[in-house]
Amino acid sequence: QWGALQDSLCKTVGENNYKTWIAPLSFHGLEDGGVAVFGAPTNFFGTYVSQNYGDLLLSQLSKVNSSVCRVMFRTSTRPAANVPAAVRPAAPAPTPREDLPGAPLDQRFTFETFVVGKPNELAHAASRRVAEGGVVTFNPLFLYGGVGLGKTHLMHAIAWELRARHPEKTVLYLSAEQFMYRFVQALRERKMIDFKELFRSVDVLMVDDVQFIAGKDSTQEEFFHTFNALVDQNKQIIISADRAPDEIKDLENRIRSRLQSGLVVDLHPTDYELRLGILLSKAEMYRAQYPGLSIADGVLEFLAHRISTNVRVLEGALTRLFAFASLVGKPIDMDLVQDSLADVLRASERKISIDEIQRKVAEHYNIRLSDMIGPKRVRNFARPRQVAMYLCKQLTSRSLPEIGRRFGGRDHTTVMHGVKRIEELRLQDGQIDEDVELLRRALEA
Ligand code: ADP
Ligand code: MG
Repeated sequence: QWGALQDSLCKTVGENNYKTWIAPLSFHGLEDGGVAVFGAPTNFFGTYVSQNYGDLLLSQLSKVNSSVCRVMFRTSTRPAANVPAAVRPAAPAPTPREDLPGAPLDQRFTFETFVVGKPNELAHAASRRVAEGGVVTFNPLFLYGGVGLGKTHLMHAIAWELRARHPEKTVLYLSAEQFMYRFVQALRERKMIDFKELFRSVDVLMVDDVQFIAGKDSTQEEFFHTFNALVDQNKQIIISADRAPDEIKDLENRIRSRLQSGLVVDLHPTDYELRLGILLSKAEMYRAQYPGLSIADGVLEFLAHRISTNVRVLEGALTRLFAFASLVGKPIDMDLVQDSLADVLRASERKISIDEIQRKVAEHYNIRLSDMIGPKRVRNFARPRQVAMYLCKQLTSRSLPEIGRRFGGRDHTTVMHGVKRIEELRLQDGQIDEDVELLRRALEA
């Protein structure tokens, strides 16, 4: 597939650009989450191609294979000296120091493209502050959160911003895995002094996915020394992990407490509003890319409602929709969603059970489960019971008779009455409306 694409890329970018920038890339394969990985001869090369041809590559690839939702460039192990002179840029614009072993930054991961909502507003604000590059106040900044919630995006955004504002500063971004790899390589090649000098000479060090070094003793040790040396020089450190410092197992305590010594902020799982915001902003970008494609009302809302909290999955779904729509020349509507996203929707379907609803509602109103399900008709039990019935109707695919049966063998008309009553009350009684909304969120989380 890559072979076939190369011809069309050559036509699009012109033969010279093609020879210089595209031909030297090697296609490594497709990784989890639809990441197409390319080998680039140097870090600079990777960054340059990512900035200038990243979008093009992505759009072309996703046309051939709709699961591709991101392109990444890794530096191949081939030493830089072997790179033909032609691929060295004549006069590179503000070049990141070429000797830095950092990972290339994804040009799409900027503050401009980061959608802020309740779940990530603190992490975003802290990142913005650090990206100003003024006086070091939070050191380290420790960002944590589940997969696909935007940690890497924020870190790249900080790095871009710092580079733009302070081109004189050296900003080094890399994953903890790459840190370990560099460290092991330095040990093997007996270049520890170079390694230490290099890492201690940067102005800003960013290490992504630091949980990776848990259990890797000598890497931890080296990381600890690097960390201390930089903090002593008042250099900014930014760390991310998939969980809080005290939840990372097999991490030395002195490192743990170091990690906690600055500002620790978490990215919460996305909520409906944030998901919708992200979809709206991505759809805007796609509209520019695929002019003429329209999105039917309600499609984005449906996706925001149905797809899990992982933004990467959400983006992948949208990419696929646009690619599919442009291939078959159809508008993006619910039919297309069902056709092209059946697997994604099935995978993200979270079945909420009647049991779960009953338990949560009883807990919320502080009554016993048996009282809620039982025959007593006093208002203290009847109202929560109706709320629970209403939620069962809304959040499960159970029929009214089935729901009735699970509420102590009640008739389906009783259930229907209960559901209607809550519908009315939601419009009249702010407290009930709030209760129901709270419960719905808790159940859907
Ligand atoms: P993590 O590193 O936390 O696993 P990433 O930063 O790689 O997650 O984010 C996964 C994908 O979701 C990326 O493509 C990123 O751009 C996107 N993303 C995550 N959060 C947001 C957000 N708030 N606004 C826009 N895009 C986001
Ligand atoms: Mg990440």
